[in-house]
Amino acid sequence: MRRGGSLIAAIIMAIIGAITYFSSRSTNEVTGEVQHISIAPDQEIALGLQAFPEMSQEFGGEISNQAVDDYVEQVGQRIVAKSDAANGPYKYDFHVLADPQTINAFALPGGQVSITVGLLSKLHNEAELAGVLGHEIGHVVGRHGAEQLSKQRFAQTLVGAATIASYNPDRPSSTVQNAAIASAISQLVSLRFSRNDELEADALGVRLMGEAGYDVRGMHDLLVILEQQSQGGRTPEFFSTHPDPGNRLQRVDQLIAENPGKGTDVGADRFQANVLRYMR
Ligand SMILES: [Zn+2]
Repeated sequence: MRRGGSLIAAIIMAIIGAITYFSSRSTNEVTGEVQHISIAPDQEIALGLQAFPEMSQEFGGEISNQAVDDYVEQVGQRIVAKSDAANGPYKYDFHVLADPQTINAFALPGGQVSITVGLLSKLHNEAELAGVLGHEIGHVVGRHGAEQLSKQRFAQTLVGAATIASYNPDRPSSTVQNAAIASAISQLVSLRFSRNDELEADALGVRLMGEAGYDVRGMHDLLVILEQQSQGGRTPEFFSTHPDPGNRLQRVDQLIAENPGKGTDVGADRFQANVLRYMR
């Protein structure tokens, strides 16, 4: 009797999980892509704000040099204000994290964007920085984090259902432990994007930085820098959170050729005055 009852409960749970996942269809306003996302934009913003302190601590916390931090914030806000990203529901903040070794940048759902000193110090101008921030804004606009979380939620529902189906009333503690679900925050901190997400973030990055007046060749130069860094034996952390689809540079060059953009701003002097003089 008991086993039969838990099997039915498990089947109902799996069906509800599937319906929730597949019925939460929405068309992304910026990319036009149909997505399955069971998290609303205001929840994305709240989750991102909640996860940021832990994420920030992993990379040495926020930089103490306020001038550098303000400058990166300004560049990020310029891209948002002058591009299609301004039409979305997200609230952006741009942070510089103090870790000088790790070459990385990341975006949490809802608009918290960070770059490490390790990556910032490898750049030469504002257009390359706009490439980094444009790519990360692309992950936010593309809702890639929310998409991953919705998939994980669905997978957890199935795991939960399987746990209920295999529930043994004589050994309740083992299954209770198996059913423990990791918190949304720890999921965000270990978030990995897919290769397709990377290509989409690159394409959005080129588009958004171009709309904001930057020379889109900055994205090409950024990818060359990242590739050079990975030839030094130590793969930049950037490629573990942002898997390299391999043909990324080729795809970006194609996008740049197709949309040379109106932007000509490179901002080498501003980058020198606001970042490099503190770094070297
Ligand atoms: Zn990425």
